[in-house]
Amino acid sequence: MIAFDLFCGNGHKFECWFKDNASFEEQKEAGILTCPICDDHHIEKAFSPFGIKRRGEKAKEGMDPYQALQLIHDYLDKHFEDVGADFYKEAIKIHYGEAEKKNIKGTATTEEEIILKEEGVQFFKIPIIKRQLN
Ligand SMILES: [Zn+2]
Repeated sequence: MIAFDLFCGNGHKFECWFKDNASFEEQKEAGILTCPICDDHHIEKAFSPFGIKRRGEKAKEGMDPYQALQLIHDYLDKHFEDVGADFYKEAIKIHYGEAEKKNIKGTATTEEEIILKEEGVQFFKIPIIKRQLN
């Protein structure tokens, strides 16, 4: 048996068991596959590194929160300029068009956060994690 992660045309994700890959294709061609949430017939297979599971093996439930956070930090490192403690100053400057629009990351005090919120500056907070040393 093979478990496939499937997506419907409306983006619902669900899991289905099939005898083999051919039997999935067969059922898909025949249009018998439907989304359990919205009955959509446009079912696509999602790429899953855990696609093939042995009987009795527990399905992997997503990723742990720490790992997810690590990914966010990696993304921020690549796409955001680190302004450190100047976050507040820089965010205000960008907000009022005094500085070029860019993605910044840094730290802010609670007082600074309150002012940023009052000014309508959009920002989001993420917990700082200890970086894994590779
Ligand atoms: Zn659906």
